[in-house]
Amino acid sequence: MTAFAQIIIIGTGFGGLCMAHKLKEAGYDDILILEKAHEVGGTWRENTYPGAECDIPSALYSYSFAQNPTWDYKWAKQPQIFKYLKDFATDYDLRRHIRFGVSVQGATWMENISNWTIQTDQGELSCRFLISGVGQLHHPKWPNIPGRESFKGDTFHSAQWDHDFDLTGKRVGVIGVGASAIQFIPEIAQQAKKLTIYQRTPNWVIDKGDRPYSRIEKWIAKRFPALANLYRFGLWFQGEFIIYPIIKGAPLRAALARARNRSDMNKHISDPKLRKILTPDYPIGAKRILFSDKYYEALARDNVELVTEPIKEINATGIKTTNNNFAHDVIIYATGFYSNPFLKELDIQGRNKATLVDHWQNGAFAYLGVMTAGFPNLFFLYGPNTNTGHTSIIFKLEQEVGYIIKLIRGAENGTVEVGPEAEHAFSEEMQTRLSKLAWAKIDESWYKDGDKIPNNWPGSSLEFKKRLKTPIWDHFETT
Ligand code: NAP
Repeated sequence: MTAFAQIIIIGTGFGGLCMAHKLKEAGYDDILILEKAHEVGGTWRENTYPGAECDIPSALYSYSFAQNPTWDYKWAKQPQIFKYLKDFATDYDLRRHIRFGVSVQGATWMENISNWTIQTDQGELSCRFLISGVGQLHHPKWPNIPGRESFKGDTFHSAQWDHDFDLTGKRVGVIGVGASAIQFIPEIAQQAKKLTIYQRTPNWVIDKGDRPYSRIEKWIAKRFPALANLYRFGLWFQGEFIIYPIIKGAPLRAALARARNRSDMNKHISDPKLRKILTPDYPIGAKRILFSDKYYEALARDNVELVTEPIKEINATGIKTTNNNFAHDVIIYATGFYSNPFLKELDIQGRNKATLVDHWQNGAFAYLGVMTAGFPNLFFLYGPNTNTGHTSIIFKLEQEVGYIIKLIRGAENGTVEVGPEAEHAFSEEMQTRLSKLAWAKIDESWYKDGDKIPNNWPGSSLEFKKRLKTPIWDHFETT
């Protein structure tokens, strides 16, 4: 017989763990969490490249109900965030709910019994409510560059770092200059004999102003949680009222941010030619604004070269651009993730065996990011139109978790499903609003799928919180 749990959650990142804890707090205990790996942590388990750290200030990058007063740095490093999640799973008694080493392949809605059957590499399971906590940035993206397979040296992706490969004294090529690359480039620049960075599009980069927290600061945060909360509120406020207006295109805020970028760049880089190729020609905020104290400094090193000529091919010895050949011992792909199609690795079949892949063939959408019509009792954490460019995603995950629990309660162990009209109206609203923001001003980014922006939320995080406070039951059907 298929093993049954009332609620199955896929993934043990920030979303899945928060969901499980809050469900337990709400009185649910028949919860199973499926995790393909052998430890919790999601993105913070997977991304271990040198220099991996958060680009949201640490004080804001934790659950509101489990704040960590002892972050070592203003911007937490990957090992400490990973530890935070491992400790959370242990301290909140979540481990007994987790089945490690189980990879979910698909799920099918069983109309006759109103359950989901989950297909995994370890056999079938079933549940009444299914919650995806797999996130948006899960599958490393390898670029389609001719000859990629012919390279004879070592090759790896930033999200699958080969820690056994010693970069010391090597000729290293890095493709990509996004959020991941700018964190590891300063680290590996110190080891490589020659580091060649291939930049297709420059990014707007601003100094982080990182530093370790002093013992006294940690003591204050621990001893006076109200002060720590106030500090956290200040960080949230900055994102909401300083960075979000940039994405909305507020001219003064955008001009100030560009000036800040120029001043930070000029501090580290004196070569006018290098400054020019590092300066984006698209509106600030159209891609994620990057934060680093070390990136520009690394680019000014003698052993580092920034190449902007388009890559033509990869061959046995290295990379060929329009006019040059570069020999490498290793090529590191910092080329991001497949963010669309959403949940592309999962074969999910809803009512009448309709697949999620077909349902979302023109770009993913979901009512408030958490439910889509035709797929009863299926919920998404960090789903379509919930990503943000200005604040901590954990803030929003907590709102989603609270909302999903209300929907599960409303279903009274039957079913809950969003109505197609409400979902359609919501999706139209999203795309109309998104089309006016900075994200729409460039042709391509991981936020976009063709002309649509299926990943991002157009509003403030405060608006998100308000809209997810109470379900509008007219928008749902329960049985
Ligand atoms: P990304 O931002 O998508 O950057 C990918 C880079 O690879 C871009 O520079 C892109 O150039 C380049 N690229 C892709 N295909 C290429 C090709 N065929 N030829 C040349 N260049 C190519 O990926 P990411 O840096 O991994 O970051 C993804 C997201 O992960 C971030 O936006 C952020 O949300 C998250 N992240 C967060 C943190 C954190 O601190 N919390 C850290 C790392 C990542 P184009 O720009 O021209 O496409």
